[in-house]
Amino acid sequence: MNKAVTDLSCISGIGPARLSALKSLGIHSVSDLLEYFPRDYRAESAEKKISDLGGEAIQQTRGNVVAVNYIPARPRPRFEATLEDETGKCALTWFNAQYLRRSIHPGAYLRVKGKVQFFRGIPQFVQPKWEPIDAATPSNTDSKFHAVYPASERMPSDVIARIIEEAMPLALPEIEEWFDGDLLNRHGLPGRREAFEKIHLPRNIAEAMRARRRLVYDELMLMQIGLGIAKKVRDKRLAAPILKFDKLLDQRIRQRFPFVLTAGQQNAIYDVLRDLASGQPMNRLLQGDVGSGKTSVALYAMLVAVANKMQAAILAPTEVLAEQHFLTLRNLLKDSNVRIELFTHRTKANSAKKKTGGGTSVPLNANLGVFGQHLPQTLLKDLSNGQIHIAIGTQALIQEDIEFANLGLVVVDEQHRLGVRQRAVLKSKGLSPHYLVMTATPIPRTLALSYFADFDVSTIDELPPGRQPIHTKWIRSSAASQAYQFIREEIANGRQAYIVLPQIDESSEDSAKSVVKEFERLSKGPLSDCRLAMLHGQMSPDEKQAVMENFRDRKTDVLVATTVIEVGIDVPNATVILIDNAERFGLSQLHQLRGRVGRGEHLSHCILISDADSDEARERLNAMTKTTSGFEIAEMDLKLRGPGEFFGTRQHGLPEFKLADITQEMELLSQAKSDAAEILEADPRLQNHSALRAAIKRQLGEVALSQIG
Ligand code: ADP
Ligand code: MG
Repeated sequence: MNKAVTDLSCISGIGPARLSALKSLGIHSVSDLLEYFPRDYRAESAEKKISDLGGEAIQQTRGNVVAVNYIPARPRPRFEATLEDETGKCALTWFNAQYLRRSIHPGAYLRVKGKVQFFRGIPQFVQPKWEPIDAATPSNTDSKFHAVYPASERMPSDVIARIIEEAMPLALPEIEEWFDGDLLNRHGLPGRREAFEKIHLPRNIAEAMRARRRLVYDELMLMQIGLGIAKKVRDKRLAAPILKFDKLLDQRIRQRFPFVLTAGQQNAIYDVLRDLASGQPMNRLLQGDVGSGKTSVALYAMLVAVANKMQAAILAPTEVLAEQHFLTLRNLLKDSNVRIELFTHRTKANSAKKKTGGGTSVPLNANLGVFGQHLPQTLLKDLSNGQIHIAIGTQALIQEDIEFANLGLVVVDEQHRLGVRQRAVLKSKGLSPHYLVMTATPIPRTLALSYFADFDVSTIDELPPGRQPIHTKWIRSSAASQAYQFIREEIANGRQAYIVLPQIDESSEDSAKSVVKEFERLSKGPLSDCRLAMLHGQMSPDEKQAVMENFRDRKTDVLVATTVIEVGIDVPNATVILIDNAERFGLSQLHQLRGRVGRGEHLSHCILISDADSDEARERLNAMTKTTSGFEIAEMDLKLRGPGEFFGTRQHGLPEFKLADITQEMELLSQAKSDAAEILEADPRLQNHSALRAAIKRQLGEVALSQIG
């Protein structure tokens, strides 16, 4: 849009007061105005006879008042009137409108306007607008269809509508088409100019929806093309080590696993191997339901890196999880020459007596503090001279003063927790490392195509063989004693259990059950014959580790815990998870927690205890009992909470849309993704798409554009 018409004061009817009211709605220019989209539409039909009333639209009619009645019901007293014309009668109802007793009397002649419902076949207006008229008043013969805008007190919707209508003739000619006619025809999309006109001034709902669809498409295209360009810039700039691979290596790695890889794992490994050999940095998202065996895929990839004389690193979101990976890996690499080390905030300075090969054990006494400060110099040195092959750690690994000799691969586990966009950047002397990101929860397809669009995605779509679906039950707290009885039986059969509570200790603000109190209560009462242990985030890392090890070694039967056990904990002998105050947890979180059981050959159970009655909580808990598919759960969770919440925290850097609700736009989103790729393929610098190019430039800046093509 050119400068001359960006000025709002060009529009007649906008004085200083309105200008400031518009500003407070975020409207500073004519183009802002055009992009101030309706939140709804309202249809208003022409005046009708009473017997013709009906339909979706706002209805209008006129007639004589033949009866009135005031009903002083509590809490909502109402005033009722009956309106009659030559074709029939209709009922009028107003709530909290005692004053109408003084203004509407039998014999009055009124025009009324509002939504119509039918009650026993009689049309009924609730809270209609009304005005006294006389028989000579001409009737409203036009049906109308108009937009409803998000409004403020100073700027009501109909004023906004008038201003926008006023601005149209100025603004529309400035709107340029982004795409060629072929593309638009293929998808049945109207032109961009027409779309802007019709989203504000449609004649009917179909026109409005068609316009909206086009503008949603444009938003999605802007994002997809932006992402496509960003990816090209990255790919061009970065070279990654070429990691080679052959049959022999495959056999060697495979031998190390105590099981046969599933076809799903196998396919993911093929994807990864192709990336590793490509010379460009892999940026791959590995998703699969809880328990699908993502870790094995990651380990495989790390061993390929090590075989290529490169280092690999794996980043976990918690120390407990880092330690678990460490133990798994060390076990897997017994009797090999691969040296792995654990780097967490408590890696102790004097633990640095290391010899190459066979891994090392990490001392249990804590030495908290910033890792870099207590850094065992030899460990640091061994990392930077390449003697450590695999580094396992938490965010402690992303320290300024840690440098790898030749880092080939970074695995980020359970990315969910680290923050979507927070790509861990590790320093290495060599080329850019490959990245493999594992998600804690399956990513709904819409998100995979939008927020994760710059990742390639591999999906493990099956669980290892022999797994039985987890039985999930939602019970009221009055039935809790049966649940504890069940846990006792499982323990008697040699199994173990988790009990999860929403908080660590009881607090005055929050009445939810807590780990500390429940631990006490259960040890004395319902589970007094079992060996219980507590696990929560306020315990020292050493305590946590000791508790986890005891549980793994079956020295305890029940772990009473907060959500610290949510991600990654892998104890196949545990077969029951009881989640108390289950309404306190999000859907994806419940699913993650449930994934702590069902990891071995035994039939497992998830018991949700909740007395919640809100619709939203019931929807979540019922969803848990209905499906064990992480993909279905994720889709549902996204719909319930929206993308921002879905990731746990509100993330920065997620694209924002004015119109598109990406949870609802699957079809258009996948369309946009392939269209964007097609356009960039044919016209990488967007030289034949000048209007689109200008829009992208506003989004990415000239620099990014100048680097491509
Ligand atoms: P997640 O995808 O949740 O990270 P894990 O990698 O922790 O899953 O694997 C879950 C469990 O399944 C682990 O105990 C692992 O040893 C086991 N596992 C992984 N792959 C297989 C397989 N192909 N066959 C049998 N068990 C497997
Ligand atoms: Mg895992």
